[in-house]
This record gives sequence, C-alpha cells and structure tokens, in this order.
Amino acid sequence: MKLRRFCAAFLLLAAMGVQAQVTLVKEGKPTSRICIEKGNEIDRQAADLLQDFVCRISGATLPIVSAPSPMKGDIVIGGGNTSGLTEDGFRLQTDKGSLYIGSGGDKGSIYGVVTLLEDYLGVAYYGANAYTLDKRSTITIPELKRAENPAFRYRQSQCYAMKEDPIYKLWFRFEEPKEVFAGGLWVHSFDKIMPSDIYGASHPEYYSFINGERRPGKASQWCLTNPEVFELVSHKIDSIFKANPGMNLISVSQNDGNHTNCTCPDCKALDELEGGPTGSLIHFLNKLAERFPDKEFSTLAYLYTMNPPKHVKPLPNVNIMLCDIDCKREVPLTDNASGQEFVKAMEGWSKISKNIFVWDYGINFDNFVSPFPNFPILQKNIQLFKEHNATMHFSQIGGSKGGDFPEMRAYMVSKLMWNPYLNTDSLMRAFMDGYYGAASPYIYQYEKLLEGGLLASRKDLWIYDSPVTHKDGMLNANCRKRYNEFFDQAEQAVSNDPVLLDRVRLSRLPLQYAELEIARAEGNHDVEEVKAKLALFKGRTAQYGIPTLNERNNTPADYCKLYTERYLPGRARNLAKGAKVIWLDEPSPKYKAMGEAALTDELLGGTAFVESWVGWEGKDGAFVLDLGKEVSFSSINSDFLHQLGQWVLLPKRVTYSVSSDNKTYRAFGEKSIPEDRSVEVKFVGVKCESPSPVTARYIKVEIEGVKTCPSWHYGVGYPAWFFLDEVTVR
Ligand SMILES: [Zn+2]
Repeated sequence: MKLRRFCAAFLLLAAMGVQAQVTLVKEGKPTSRICIEKGNEIDRQAADLLQDFVCRISGATLPIVSAPSPMKGDIVIGGGNTSGLTEDGFRLQTDKGSLYIGSGGDKGSIYGVVTLLEDYLGVAYYGANAYTLDKRSTITIPELKRAENPAFRYRQSQCYAMKEDPIYKLWFRFEEPKEVFAGGLWVHSFDKIMPSDIYGASHPEYYSFINGERRPGKASQWCLTNPEVFELVSHKIDSIFKANPGMNLISVSQNDGNHTNCTCPDCKALDELEGGPTGSLIHFLNKLAERFPDKEFSTLAYLYTMNPPKHVKPLPNVNIMLCDIDCKREVPLTDNASGQEFVKAMEGWSKISKNIFVWDYGINFDNFVSPFPNFPILQKNIQLFKEHNATMHFSQIGGSKGGDFPEMRAYMVSKLMWNPYLNTDSLMRAFMDGYYGAASPYIYQYEKLLEGGLLASRKDLWIYDSPVTHKDGMLNANCRKRYNEFFDQAEQAVSNDPVLLDRVRLSRLPLQYAELEIARAEGNHDVEEVKAKLALFKGRTAQYGIPTLNERNNTPADYCKLYTERYLPGRARNLAKGAKVIWLDEPSPKYKAMGEAALTDELLGGTAFVESWVGWEGKDGAFVLDLGKEVSFSSINSDFLHQLGQWVLLPKRVTYSVSSDNKTYRAFGEKSIPEDRSVEVKFVGVKCESPSPVTARYIKVEIEGVKTCPSWHYGVGYPAWFFLDEVTVR
C-alpha cells in the first residue's frame, strides 16, 4: 500500500514537472513575445539569439518588444529574481505562465538564453556554424527554476571558430582580454607602459641591471625599486585609465623573458629578503594598488616569478596571473614533479591572495598539428585552480584549425570552466556523437588508445614536444597501425556525408603529420609510401585552409616543400657520412654523445630542437670531422636551426678548413650570417664551395656563436644557444 501511494504521488509530481508553462510557438505560429528593457545591449543580444534560434527550430519569429508590463506567455529577459547571482550568472524561472531570465551582470542573460536553448530546446553547438537542433512546429518550455553561477568570473580560451562564427564565443561563454583589460594591454606590458625605445638611452637606470650592466630592452624588465620608475609608470597608468572610461583592470606585468629581472643592489636586497624576484614585483604592484584603490592591477607570476614572496601579501586589488608553462601534461599537475612544483607555488599564492588568474597550457605549441592526448587531465587541473582561489582562467589551447581536436578541446574546456565538476567522459562522448555522427565510436576509440599509449609509455607530454619523441611510445608503429584503422573506419562510417567526412579528415591530420615526422627522423622508410603520405597531407591541409603547423607561423605548404628538399632521397649523399667527430669546442654535455653520430648521419633535424639537433650554449663551437681517408669534394654545408622562442639563435660566423694530417690546415671558406629577428622557425644552411674539388681527410668546422642573447630577445643578457644538425660534404 505504502509503495503504491508513493508511486501515485511521484507520478503526479512528474506530470506537473513536464506540464508546459510557456508555449513559445504553436504549430508554426509565434505565441509568445521576448521582452527586454530599452537600452540594455547585452539583453538585446540575448533576445536576438533566442529569436534567431526559435526561428531556426520552428520557422516562427517571436517579436522582441520593450514592454514595461509583461503579459502572460512572455519571455522576460533581464527581469525576475537576481538574488544570489554573480557576474555572468543567470536564473531561469517560470512564473504564472511567463519565463524570466535573470542576470547576475555582464553576459548573464545571454548565457541564460544559451542554457535554455541547449537544455530545453534541443540545440547543441560544436564548432564554427556546426550545431544540431530538433526542428519542430510547437515549442513549449516546462516549469523551470534553475540558477547557475560560473566557477570562474572570467573564462578565456582559443578556437579558430571564434573568428569564423560570431555566435561561437557567446555560446561557449568565452571572454577576450580586450573586454576587460584597459588600453589593449594584455600581459608582458612593461615595455608598452614604459618603452625602452623611448627611455632606454637617456635613462638606462630605469631598466634591469643584468650580469654587470643595465640592459634596457623589450625582454628586460624594470628597476622596480627606482622611485622615478614608479612615478613615471603611475602617470602613464592614470592616463590609460582616463582614456578608457569604464575599464577598471590593467595589466602591469613583466616582459617575456626569463631571469631578466633587475639585480641592482636595492632590487637584490629586497628580493633576497622576500626569497626571490617576486618580492620587488609585489612591493611595486602594491604601491600602484594603493595609489589607485578603485582599480585592479594584474601581474604575471610566470617563470622566474612563479613562486610567491615570503612576507609581502598582494593587496586585494592586485591580481596574480599564475602560469604553469613549465609543467608536463601526461598526468594531472598533482602527479608529476614539474606539476608539484607549480602546485606548491599555487598553494603559497592561495594563502595570501583571493584574486588569482590561472594561465594553463594545453597543446603542443611547436606542433599544433600533432596528437596531444591531455584530455584526461583537464578536469582535475581546472578543479585544482578553482579550489585554490582562481577566479579567472585562461586555458591556452592554440585552437588552430587542423590542430589536435581544437573544436572538442574548446568545447570541453568551456564546459569545465563553467562547471569543473561535470563528467568529462560524458562531455567527450556528447561532443563526438554530435560532431562526428556515425564516426564517433571510432574516433573515441582512437583517442582512448592514444591516452592509454601515452600513460603506458611513461613518457612526458610536453608543450614543446616533437611527435618523434613519442615514436617508441604512444606513436609506435603498432599503435599507428591501429590508429589508422580507426580513422579508416571513421571515414567509412560517414562516407556518404561530406560535412562529417571533412570533420573526420580534418581530425586525422595530426596523426598524418606525426607519421611524416617519424618517417623523417627514422630515415629507413619506403620512399614511395612517404611521398604518397606527403602528397595527401599537402592536399588536405590546402583543401581545409590550415594556416600553420605551430605558434611560429610555419605553413603546411612550406613544410611539405622543405620535406621534399630536405628529407626525401634524390639528393646526393653526404661524403662525410659516419665521419668520426673530434671535439675542439664541445657542445653542451647532453648533446655530446648524440652529436657524434647525428652530425653526419644524413638525417636532418626538424622544427623541434628536441630531436637530432646538437646544441652549444653561450659559447663558440669547433670540431674536426675525420673522413677516415682522403676524399675529394667541393662543398661543405652546415645546417643550423633558427628558433627564437627557444633561445636558439643563428651563429655569427662559420669557418671551414681542411687538412690531410690533422696538423696543418688550409682555409676552405668562411661565411658570416646576418642577424634574424623573425619568430618563424627556419633551417639555415651555411655553405662554402670551392671552384675546383679539393682532397683532404680532415675537415675543421669553427662556429662563432652569438653567445649572449641581445637586448631585443627574450633572453637578454643570458646565454644564447645555437643548434647544428648535419655537416654535408659533397
Ligand atoms: Zn633595480
């Protein structure tokens, strides 16, 4: 009896629950109005979005009216009960036949509409103009009483879709720095606020004292204890806020360089007292925060300033932008050494600040188009940030078209930044089912096998990896074979749907790129097979308009051209192949043993310095190649890597000389290399030729390095690297 009564009550409640409270459209005719208050731009956008999608679903256009007294059946945007809502939060509430969408401020009403469309009107959004919806002629909304606040007041991420589709950013609830940071200043703002170009020559004392001298420059920092610097900066900040009324947040943050802080006696003393260079930084920021108490100051805790100071506490209006750039990504931050170091810093900051912005990195920046299976760690990391007082979050995932699942990455990050406690596997499946349709199970299996392969390999996952690093791990030949089978099945499953087939093929590019890279590094490949794979990759990247392979703007077309020139046989062989290397001026210890084979193995390095390249740091390099016997040749070429982001600069000069006895040398040629400030990754050959062949057994290569990073470079004042792979003798 009891059970029966319970069931009856339950059924009654369920019936009430599904009872339509508001009917928006009945048999294709609008039966509701969207009411907004005049002059509220955000509510207007929310109304437009709702009107647009109701029309896409049903064909009916709901009128938008600025009505002071809503009628029964209306949807009232911006009205109703807003208690308990925070910035961007919303409440959906039905009352007496009307629906109220309340906002906690900023874009709350838009996000309320998005939730209404997603959860009650059957719309799902995946990428640029990529969405699904249930078409129907009658739309009703059940009784609703639901309020949500975001886990982070500011949520930033990246996806190419943001540029292609204006709805995308609203739907995924992303914000952009220009919306909140005054004056267009977005990190690394020191040199924009007090430019070294303007003050450096007349006031070198305003800038960092590094390794024996003042070094004004774009990557150097300020002398933070100099009172004139404080006054000048305050004046500039005042003028920036005056020019940007309504903006309250400004970035006053170190330039992009590591260990380029000032070490003058005053700065040094303060930093020693505080246990590191964050000391003088926070003292400086607190002074600004005191002078402008109604404004907020964001500063980076990045690289050399990652750790909190010992004594000084940031004022509440100092925002700490904490970056975990150096951490590895195969497991959550709590579970490996690099992550634990960051977690320790974050715990320290969370004890002294409630105003933390976490900048997290979630893609391979040197190889966007390369598998990066970090999905299982996203949620735990975002929860960790939330639980350590982060109120703002930037998930930097590249988002470049053709990269590793940029659409799914942004989708999952967006959902988790709103609520870090959702089920991530459900999110991934929901995305894949919606975006790939019948191909979803195969792509899901691919991703899961890749994730398992990474963990089983016990290799790190690094944001500057090369796929070659994983050639014996998650990208070993057996795994690659299975991955390709999954993608073949995925393509087959959607072969009659060109839109879905394109999505599958776009998502396959990272695997195809990884295979090309591994073939290049291994060298012993079937040339015709590699040529066919290269042609396919070239065709697909052109067809889909893939802009770049990495954050240095190297295009796929250039890559394919270089690949043919550098890595595919057809070129004359290296007469120095397998030559013995006799070091005169050795490379860095970790490259020494590897260099003895790599310099003459006929395999040329790729765009990531981590494989095959031999590096010298802060010094010149010199060695002799012993060819084993007298050989006749007419050219010597040394191939160098140019990659400024990794402090890899071209050397200044290369000198070649030759000998028959390794005692008496005669000049062969020398060449100077012009300075190159371009951020693009390049390979630069330094070649000398003799008009007629010479005969010798020994070749001496002397390389004059830049040694110290110049003032325009991130590493100003610190040792510069040069990287060499392959000396080719012909
Ligand atoms: Zn100083």
